[in-house]
Amino acid sequence: MEHSNSTNTQEQITEIEIAIIGAGPAGIAAGVALSKLGHAKEMILFDREDRIAMTSRHCNHQGFGLLEFRRPMSGDDYADAQQRQAEKHSVSVKLKHTLTRIEEDLLTFSTPDGEIRYRAKRILFAMGAREMTRPDRLVSGGRSPNIITTGALQRFTYIQERKPFNRAVIIGSELVSFSAIMTARHAGIEIAGIIEEDPKLHSFGILKPLSSSLLKVPVYTDTKLLRIHTEEKEVTGVTILKQGIEETIACDGVIFSGGFIPESALLHKHLADFDTRNYSVPITQYFQTQEKRYFLAGNVIRGALTAFNCYFEGREAGRQIHASLQSDNSPVTVAIEADPAIEWLYPSLLDTSKEPKHLTRIRFARHTQGLLRVLLNDKEVMQQQIHANPYLKITVDWFNRPVKAGDRIEIRYEES
Ligand SMILES: Cc1cc2nc3c(=O)[nH]c(=O)nc-3n(C[C@H](O)[C@H](O)[C@H](O)COP(=O)(O)OP(=O)(O)OC[C@H]3O[C@@H](n4cnc5c(N)ncnc54)[C@H](O)[C@@H]3O)c2cc1C
Repeated sequence: MEHSNSTNTQEQITEIEIAIIGAGPAGIAAGVALSKLGHAKEMILFDREDRIAMTSRHCNHQGFGLLEFRRPMSGDDYADAQQRQAEKHSVSVKLKHTLTRIEEDLLTFSTPDGEIRYRAKRILFAMGAREMTRPDRLVSGGRSPNIITTGALQRFTYIQERKPFNRAVIIGSELVSFSAIMTARHAGIEIAGIIEEDPKLHSFGILKPLSSSLLKVPVYTDTKLLRIHTEEKEVTGVTILKQGIEETIACDGVIFSGGFIPESALLHKHLADFDTRNYSVPITQYFQTQEKRYFLAGNVIRGALTAFNCYFEGREAGRQIHASLQSDNSPVTVAIEADPAIEWLYPSLLDTSKEPKHLTRIRFARHTQGLLRVLLNDKEVMQQQIHANPYLKITVDWFNRPVKAGDRIEIRYEES
C-alpha cells in the first residue's frame, strides 16, 4: 500500500515498502518474486525508459529466454515475455522515472512531472551495465557522432531503423562484438575488422577463424587502436598498430563494443562502501549490501553477464528482500580479499549470520593459466587449476566451510 506523507507544504513523500530501480530481467524477476510472496501492493518497479526491458528490446537477435522461459527467443520476444509476466503478477511499474538521488531510505526521481520522492524500507538496485564509450577508453583522434557503442548501433538498427554509417571497425572482442557483426549485417553495414589489443580474444577462440572464413571479417588480435581520423566530424579511418607496423583502415564508423561497467555512478556518489574493483557496491551471498536496506541484482553488481544470470539473480534477490523484511537483521559480514589479477568477484562479502552458501564468481582481466587458491585464516581450504579466457567466469565452490565474523578470506592466483 502506498502512503502519502506531507512533510511540508511543498514536498510530498510517498512511503512504500520496496523500491526496485531498473526494469530489466533482474528488476522484473525480483518484482515478480516479491509479488508472489504477497508484496505487490507495497512495491514499485521504476525505470527511466518509456517501456520496460529496453536493454533486451534493443537486441533483436536470438540468444535469450531458454532457461527462464524454456524456449529460445529474440531480445524483443524476451522483453514481451517479461512484460506479460510483470502484468500477470500485478507488478506496479512507474516509467520515465530516473533515480537521481539516494539519501538513506529516501529516493528522488526526475520525471516528466518534476521531482518525485519515495521512502522505501528495502531498495533493490538493478540498473544494469553500460559499454565503455570512447572517452572511457582514452582513444586519441577526432570527434564524430559516428563513433558509437554496440548498444547504440542496436538502437539505430532495430528501434530507429537508421543506418549510421556504411563501413565500420569494431573495437573489442567480447561476445557482444560478434553480435555487433550480426547487427551490422542486418543494417547493411560492412565490417572492415575486429580489433583486439590482447593477444587472445575476450571470448571463444573459435570465433576468430569463424569470423574470418564465414563472415569475411578479419580479426586483428595483439593490435592497438592508435588514432581515429575525422574530417569535419566525419570518420575517415582508423590507424592501428600491429607488431610495430602502423596500418590505416578506411571506414566511416567506429563501434566500441563490450568493456561493460555497472551503471553505478549514483551508487558511487551516494553509498559509502563503493568498491572501485567491481565498480559497484559489495554484496553478500544474499545480494544484500552491508547496509541492510540495500540489495543489488543483475549487471549493476559487476558488469555484463547474459540475461538469464541477471534474471535468476533478481528472482533470488526478491526472495531475500522478503526474508530480510521478516527478520529485519543486519548482515554480519566478512570481506573476501582477492588477488590483483582478478578483475571482479561477487559476492565479495559473506554474511556469517546465515547459511554458508559460499559461491563466489570471479573473472580475470586477461587469459589465465595457473593455480587458484582460497585461504581461510591463512590455511588453504581449496585449490583449483584454472585455464580461462579473459572475462570468462569461474565458480569457486566452498560449501561446508563455516566462516565466522573476524575470519580472513583470501583468493590467491599463481600463474603457471
Ligand atoms: C549489444 C548487446 C547484446 C546482448 N546480447 C545478449 C544475448 O544475446 N543474450 C543474453 O542473454 N544477453 C545479451 N545481452 C545482455 C543482456 O541484455 C543483459 O544481460 C541484461 O539485459 C541485463 O539485465 P539487468 O536487469 O541487469 O539490466 P538491464 O536489462 O540493462 O536493465 C537495467 C534497467 O535499469 C534502468 N535504469 C538504469 N539507471 C536508472 C536510473 N538511474 N533510474 C531509473 N532506471 C534506471 C535502465 O533503463 C534499464 O531498463 C546483450 C547486451 C547488449 C548490450
